[in-house]
Amino acid sequence: MSNSLNADLHCHSVVSDGTLTPEELAARAKAHGVELWALTDHDEIGGQRRAAAAALALDLPYLCGTEISVSFAGKTVHIVGLGFDPEDANLQDGLQATREGRSQRAMEMAEQLARVGIPGAYEGALKFVGNPELISRTHFARFLVERGACRDTNEVFRKYLSDGKPGFVPHRWASLKDAVTWIAQAQGVAVIAHPARYGLSANEEYALFSEFKAHGGRAVEVVTGSHSAAECLRYAETAREFGLAASRGSDFHSPEESRTELGSLPRLAQDLTPVWALLQDRIQRAAGRNTLDQTRTGN
Ligand code: AMP
Ligand code: MN
Ligand code: MN
Ligand code: MN
Repeated sequence: MSNSLNADLHCHSVVSDGTLTPEELAARAKAHGVELWALTDHDEIGGQRRAAAAALALDLPYLCGTEISVSFAGKTVHIVGLGFDPEDANLQDGLQATREGRSQRAMEMAEQLARVGIPGAYEGALKFVGNPELISRTHFARFLVERGACRDTNEVFRKYLSDGKPGFVPHRWASLKDAVTWIAQAQGVAVIAHPARYGLSANEEYALFSEFKAHGGRAVEVVTGSHSAAECLRYAETAREFGLAASRGSDFHSPEESRTELGSLPRLAQDLTPVWALLQDRIQRAAGRNTLDQTRTGN
């Protein structure tokens, strides 16, 4: 299947920390020329049914998706899962367990923010939350912007919410092995999300890719909204070295906050194996459409 397909396999809805509904995202993806789409809410698949139904109604081929938070080398790493069976009980239980500590962590974040002169942040963040099980740093960032503490969410992360800053609370997420195994056992493909974002040393990054592969991981995001052109080239090379397929996704969260629009990324290099080539039989299509190629030629 073609490397030049306009696939967008990473974005967020109100079911995690995005601001659009699954239906609004499906329409936006279609309007921006996306030819294969996945909604990948953090630690949550509650929006999958709505996203798939909306995509299929628009004749937009769809892959189930999620983005699992993982603790690795003392940092948080994100593993995207694509094309899994959303009814898989083991995956559902694993995601539920991963979501569990979020409310407690949010209350601790609010206590710390109160100590630096920002009271009421828990209640304030909750106003932005679409899913009570999924309060995230992004919701705190929106509250701090609303309150005038910072100009935009990037500034909030820089000043308050990243490691070492006053509102940051370390958290123990899923293990790399568990996240990859949940996805693989549910017939999905595990993908290392936006690898340039983690600030890993060369040794840590080598360990991440090696262990990921050993646990059954099969792909890496090469082209993403959070990679520069140089980083896309660098991780294309990493994909080749480790024999991983390549994914492509905007990581779109919100029309106001996201720099990268759905469907607007550069294409994958021709020699890479696109992750969708591994997932041909997992792609959902509108009735009567059997393959992407048929969709594209209009048969
Ligand atoms: P959490 O899962 O609660 O730790 O929140 C992580 C989310 O925060 C990510 O998925 C991003 O959406 C957002 N985020 C992390 N770092 C930044 C940043 N520097 N600027 C804006 N958003 C960020
Ligand atoms: Mn996010
Ligand atoms: Mn991420
Ligand atoms: Mn994401």
